[in-house]
Parts: sequence; structure tokens; C-alpha cells
Amino acid sequence: MNKTTLAAIFSFFDELFPNASCELNYTSDYTLLIAVILSAQTTDKSVNLVTPRLFGEFTTLESIAIADIAKIEGHIRSIGLYRTKALNIKNCCREIINRFDGKVPSAKEDLMSLPGVGAKTANVVRAELFRFPEIAVDTHVARISKRLYFANPADSVEIIEKKLRKAVPEDRYIKTHHQMIHFGRYFCKAMNPQCEQCRLRDYCRKIKEETT
Ligand code: SF4
Repeated sequence: MNKTTLAAIFSFFDELFPNASCELNYTSDYTLLIAVILSAQTTDKSVNLVTPRLFGEFTTLESIAIADIAKIEGHIRSIGLYRTKALNIKNCCREIINRFDGKVPSAKEDLMSLPGVGAKTANVVRAELFRFPEIAVDTHVARISKRLYFANPADSVEIIEKKLRKAVPEDRYIKTHHQMIHFGRYFCKAMNPQCEQCRLRDYCRKIKEETT
């Protein structure tokens, strides 16, 4: 991707979402990690609806580690995959206590050794908690990357992440990640994107495919 295109994309992102940031609510390292685990294949909004109840009953990492699994399930039942997620967050809390002295680790391999934590979750936590330059590729980031030619349509999330890391200046990783999520969530949606109002039409695969 050439510099002019990249500058046009960043300029539009900055204009639309100058303060894009994490939309999950959290109050501590482990509540962020749990919120991110819960957000897999569901919306941040639905996670924010269940976490006040969950963290209202279980107020510490230790209390989640020894919680009755049915009680955790009861709080998160409205979100997808709640049984697996309940088990993962309970075991995750136990591992953090046993192996990491009660603190969410910062190393990617340590994070990914925890139950329910994959590369995307680890990247989100590393960027949000520790401000490491990371770009987590979720469904929005993947779609926007493909539409704006950062990646090819058949690319895996691993390849997309690699390509983004190469194209985007490192000091913009975290910002670009949040802006792409916001752009995908509110503007360039999977269905019915706001193409009429979009300043990126000249750089867009979707528009090109529709006009050729
Ligand atoms: S032109 Fe439409 S599909 Fe392309 S980036 Fe803009 S909103 Fe998304």
C-alpha cells in the first residue's frame, strides 16, 4: 500500500473516530481479561450487560477461582458459549493465582497458556493493559483489512495481522486497531456499509468489485 493511500485512510479514521478506545467496561487487570474472554463471538455491549452482575457477586480473582460454576453460568447465560466461557474464566483465575502470583501476565506466551486465551485475546490485553504495540484481528479488523486492501480475501487472521504490522506504523498499532473496530462496527458494517458517505471509495475492494 502506498503512502498516499495510507494517509487518506488514517485521515478518515482520525476524523471519524479521533478517540477510539476499548468499549469493554473493566476495573482491573483480571476483569479486563475476563471481559475479553467473554467477548469472543459476541458483542462488547452484551458483555457489558453481564459483567456488572458477575463482578458484583464475585468481587475478587480468588472468589471467581473457587466459585460454583453454575453461579458463574447464571450470570453470563445471555451470551454465546456461556458454559465453555464460565469454565474458562474460573480456571483462568485459578491459574493466574497459582502461576502468576495473582497478576495477569504480560508476556504473550504466558497469556496464551491460560484457558480460553488465544492470540486475539492476548493481543487485546497486552495493548490495553500494558500498552504493548499490538494489533488484534477480530471480525471487524479482518473485514476492513480486506476491503481496504491491507489483506487479501482469503487471508487468515494470522496473515492479516502480519500484513497490518508491516503496513501500519508501530506507534499507530493500538489506535488503528480501535479505529478499525469502530469503523467496522458503526460505519463500514458487514451488511449495509455507509458507502455513499465514505471517503475511502477510491481505495475500496468492495466498490471496485461492484463497478467492474
Ligand atoms: S466504500 Fe463502503 S465498503 Fe468501502 S470502506 Fe467505505 S464504507 Fe466500507
